[in-house]
Amino acid sequence: MANLVQKYIDIAKEKNANEPEFLQTVEEVLMSIEPVLEAHPEYIEAGLIERLIEPERGIVFRVPWVDDNGKVQVNRGYRFEFNSALGPYKGGLRFAPNVYPGILKFLGFEQIFKNSLTGLPIGGGKGGSDFDPNGKSDAEVMRFCQSFITELYRHIGPNTDVPAGDLGVGGREIGYMMGQYKRITNQYDGTWTGKGTSNGGLAGRTEATGFGIVFYAREMLKHFGEELKGKTVAVSGFGNVTWGTVTKLDELGAKVITISGPDGYILDEDGVTGDKIDYLLELRSSGKNICAPYAEKYPNAKFFAGKKPWEVKADLYIPCATQNEIHIEDAQTMVANGCKFLCEGANMPTTNEAIAYLQENGVKVGPSKAANAGGVACSCLEMSQNAEHIIFSKEDVYRQLEGIMVNIFKLSVDACERYNLGDNLIAGANIAGFERVAEAMMMQGIV
Ligand code: GLU
Repeated sequence: MANLVQKYIDIAKEKNANEPEFLQTVEEVLMSIEPVLEAHPEYIEAGLIERLIEPERGIVFRVPWVDDNGKVQVNRGYRFEFNSALGPYKGGLRFAPNVYPGILKFLGFEQIFKNSLTGLPIGGGKGGSDFDPNGKSDAEVMRFCQSFITELYRHIGPNTDVPAGDLGVGGREIGYMMGQYKRITNQYDGTWTGKGTSNGGLAGRTEATGFGIVFYAREMLKHFGEELKGKTVAVSGFGNVTWGTVTKLDELGAKVITISGPDGYILDEDGVTGDKIDYLLELRSSGKNICAPYAEKYPNAKFFAGKKPWEVKADLYIPCATQNEIHIEDAQTMVANGCKFLCEGANMPTTNEAIAYLQENGVKVGPSKAANAGGVACSCLEMSQNAEHIIFSKEDVYRQLEGIMVNIFKLSVDACERYNLGDNLIAGANIAGFERVAEAMMMQGIV
């Protein structure tokens, strides 16, 4: 059987040779679903894996726009509509200079299983552009977004493909894209999520990803006989996900001791709490170099320029910045420091080599596909709110979010038990996510 999984990995490598991030997630997922394939030879007969690793559709387009100096700029836009077995393609748009098909396909592929784990009717997709909103004026961002949508509008819709935000795409960008979409199509519908609440957006969506991560971490700790309250937590990043994570950790009595930015990390042994969390919000919109100003404002905090927070001793680590921020050397340091729990907040923040090392050394790892699914789950609530022409209260959203996260944890543990996987929550999440998609794909025939 190992040869069979290897065969699919080889196919992926041959067809996507220059896309290491995509190959990384394909390998991670396929290795862990091997026992399911053993139990279901009909999946192999049906070419299910060959189909799963190939996006249903990939759209690549030119995005011309005029900057504030009257100069024409050209970026590249993408949308990878990966899998619609469970519902309309659903996933964010990422605007960052390093965006290329390998990053978006990794994110789109992960989104299939993440969305499946929520138990909600959403397929998987991801898109974006190599456009960098940092340092651009509002007017430039608006012109870029309008040009981007002038092409993408024909491929999306409330029952077809529902984009949202991701790195570089927040409420402002979604607002501009939604405005242009509405102008072209003359439809005020649920094509977008992550909208402002005055545009039909969901109360609580901004903090949903971070809150969900903490609910997942709480369940994970509880499962292993520990509690979140009183734990020290090393968190990375300073964006939306970090802010939501820090807020909820603080509320549940854990102590956040680090945050990080492009300039390094902050160690704040007094805890990132109270007005410091509000200050995070200010830093979030600054775009860069957030640590130096934090250390200036709060002199007890120490600033480590050019370093990552994984060298700090903590009870729990929650990487919330970006993909592959924990490498093997970081994993070795964490284990040497007695690390017991890692809960992934960002998408694929840990390399496969680092995950293997952590797991071999007894660290319990909660995978991002499960832990950060609260954001997209609330996006689906937003779709439902828009389709029903109603408004959910924040309390209702928080309640549903918590229930969904608790259930995701249960599903992962259940898969671990059914397949004798011990504490391997990564394999458990991959299997539980895969099973739902596979069943739906089998019923829909060879499409
Ligand atoms: N970009 C987020 C994620 O990685 C949210 C996607 C969405 O809400 O559609 O899950």
